[in-house]
Amino acid sequence: MHQKESVIAPILEKALGVEIIIPDSSFNTDTFGTFSGEVERTVDPIEAAQLKCIKACQLYDCSLAVASEGSFGPHPTLFFVPGDDEILVFIDLENKIEIRARELSTATNFAGSLFTSWDDIKAFAAKALFPSHALILRSEKDDTTHLTKGIDSWEALEQHCSAYLSQYGQVFVETDMRAMHNPSRMRVIEAATQKLADKILSTCPQCHWPGFDVVDVRAGLPCSWCGSPTNSTLCYTYQCKKCNHTEEKLYPHGKQTEEPTFCDYCNP
Ligand SMILES: [Zn+2]
Ligand SMILES: [Zn+2]
Repeated sequence: MHQKESVIAPILEKALGVEIIIPDSSFNTDTFGTFSGEVERTVDPIEAAQLKCIKACQLYDCSLAVASEGSFGPHPTLFFVPGDDEILVFIDLENKIEIRARELSTATNFAGSLFTSWDDIKAFAAKALFPSHALILRSEKDDTTHLTKGIDSWEALEQHCSAYLSQYGQVFVETDMRAMHNPSRMRVIEAATQKLADKILSTCPQCHWPGFDVVDVRAGLPCSWCGSPTNSTLCYTYQCKKCNHTEEKLYPHGKQTEEPTFCDYCNP
């Protein structure tokens, strides 16, 4: 519904040699929840993506499906910075395979605020990358009875804002996070898709099952001065979901020592 296939399909078709079919408009993914709150998402994002995959497979009599789900809010580790958390779920019903990828990015315009003046709205809109990124208006935060979505021109913004301001004396302006209205989000979904393709193509060295993936991350990369273990990543553990074969990969970020700046002994 939100044209995510424009970034997902080219990557997966090339990586997997598949042909992507887009469900027609009768497959309404908004029933799994909308960002603007008319339909609340009652399951977590992974479950929502799994449900979309299974539903699409049933409708189109396919065994492979991919679905994406995004969440927005304060970044989990960086305070006061908004984050875009994109999850992609790939399922293969025939072989009972599920592979997921996640991309967490701060490259998002996600924001919303209550306004009473056009000048303040103009400043907010410019910061929110409008009009390349669309906006949503409503009478107040979380109101779902009167809202206008997908506003993508200054003319329409001014016209709608003046209508809301004269009717309510205020207007809540927020970023429209639907992918086709938000090029920043589209780029994060694209990055998540690349991760997904890489994970699917990562196969077990023993049995060649797809989705040979990291299951554990171990810290302890040594300091380049004193050799003490730091909190930086020393090794990844990969495990096969089929035969349970595990492998450790040392120095996954391509460096064998860490800068003394990050050492608790050299730089307490
Ligand atoms: Zn295996
Ligand atoms: Zn040190």
